[in-house]
Parts: sequence; C-alpha cells; structure tokens
Amino acid sequence: MRPETFRFQLGSFSCLAIMDDAVRYPIGMFLTNLAREKYEPLLRQRGQSTQEIDLPYICLFINTGRERVLVDTGIGVDGMGPAPGKLLSLLRAEGIEPHEIGTVILSHGHPDHIGGSLNEDGKPAFPNARYVTFREEWDFWMSGPSLAELPVNDGLKKMILASAQKNFSGVQAQLDLVHPDTEIVPGITAIAAFGHSPGQMALEISSTEQRLLFVADAIVHPLHLEYPETIGATDHRPSQMVATRLTLLEKAAREKSLVSTSHFAFPGLGRVVPKREAWEWQPIPATRASVS
Ligand SMILES: [Zn+2]
Repeated sequence: MRPETFRFQLGSFSCLAIMDDAVRYPIGMFLTNLAREKYEPLLRQRGQSTQEIDLPYICLFINTGRERVLVDTGIGVDGMGPAPGKLLSLLRAEGIEPHEIGTVILSHGHPDHIGGSLNEDGKPAFPNARYVTFREEWDFWMSGPSLAELPVNDGLKKMILASAQKNFSGVQAQLDLVHPDTEIVPGITAIAAFGHSPGQMALEISSTEQRLLFVADAIVHPLHLEYPETIGATDHRPSQMVATRLTLLEKAAREKSLVSTSHFAFPGLGRVVPKREAWEWQPIPATRASVS
C-alpha cells in the first residue's frame, strides 16, 4: 500500500483513507485560546514540534457494495501549498476512476474539503456524481459572508470565500442540498456538526453492526479531545463548535465507534476514550489492514 492510502473494512463496506496533501501550519492556529504553558509540555512529551504541524488533508472513499461514495475532495487544482492535491491520482492508482463515483459528500465549504470538486476546466471532477451538502452550508457561502468572525488575514478570507463559491457554483447542477439526519445512501447518514462552519456535516457510517463516525473539522487536533473548549482560527461559530464537539466526543466514546478525522496523523482513524473530565485519542496503527 502507498503511504498516502490506507484500506480498511467496516462490516461489508470497503473503505480507503486518502491523504490528498499535507500542509505546514503554525500549531497555535488550532489552539488559539489554549495557553502555551499548557500545550507545549504535552507536545514535547509526545515528541512533536511545539511550533508547527504538518496537517494532512484526508479524504475517505467508501464502497458500500451498492454505491461508491467519496467524502470530501481535498485541495484540488488551485492548491493551497505549492502543488495540487493528489486525490485523483491516488484514486486512480487504486483502480477507482472519477466517473465511477456516484456520490460526493462535501462536509463543508473550506478549501481543503471542497477544493477538488472541479477539474482544471472548471467542470465537476466527478461527472456522474450527486454532490451532497447541507442546505445551511450552501446558504452561508452563497450569501457572500464577510468572514469578519475569523481571526485570519484578508488574503486568506478572500481565498476561502472564492474557493467555496467557485466549487459550490461549479457543481450546482449536480448538487443535492439535504437536511440533518438524511440517509444519503444506505448506511451513511448526515448529522449536523454546525459551528466550525455554519452548516458543517458529520457522518454516521454503519455496516453489519460496525460504526464509523466521521467528524470533519469538529475536531482538528488530538489536543481538542483533552481540551475540548479549544478554538481554532477557522472556527466560524466557536461556541456552537464546542457544543458540537462535546456531543460528537460523548457519542463516539459511548458507542465505542471507530472515528475518522480529516486532519489527525494519517490515516486519521482511532477511538475516543474517556480520560479524567475529558477524553483522549487512541489512534489505529497505520499498519493494520482491518480495524474490525
Ligand atoms: Zn479542514
């Protein structure tokens, strides 16, 4: 297996985690209200940098047997770093052609999740797919928001808004705007994870008694389990985000479900276990081919 792809089985569903890209960020961007004295010792103990993080952009492919589903499209041709995302070439290397994808789920409108929705010609990169997102998310981005709530520079705000509007408009003819608790395809249900963005979608994926909870960017760093009130610079509605995060973490721990994240160390899969008044992350070793 390539280092950027990780196959796993969930009941009868064949799944593939795909690392579209990895981009270096200052770590403080994800821990804006957590004191350095609190997190630096923890990162040091874990042998991690206290300054920067190489953040993977992880997409998920699920073959349910009846449907081929892609969750998020990565950074795409416009890129955020020096190169375009690798999603399409990695899918092809696994024998999956874009025209075979029947459903593309867009968790939210940020460029690292929606950026690969179009090809170089501005046409849907997955020509036969129904693209699915929450109506609340579409409404937010298409209303032309100022993004004044985000403590990031104007250049980044412009780039985020332009990417959302370009990609959402470009797939409009294939777009299905759904509401929370919609079963998108049998075994994959959309759940509201509002806050990080106003209409973010998490997913409950289940097959033959096995569950996978995809949390999108409700949780971006493992320290968000230990300090769940920690806010990132791209959280649009911080207090709503924290409430969503608590709900998802409680659910994941209670149901002992496998959890899929977009930005934890690849493949971003693990479990949430209670620790003191909060939780901690138990990653699935990247060498295991099955997580059942
Ligand atoms: Zn993200």
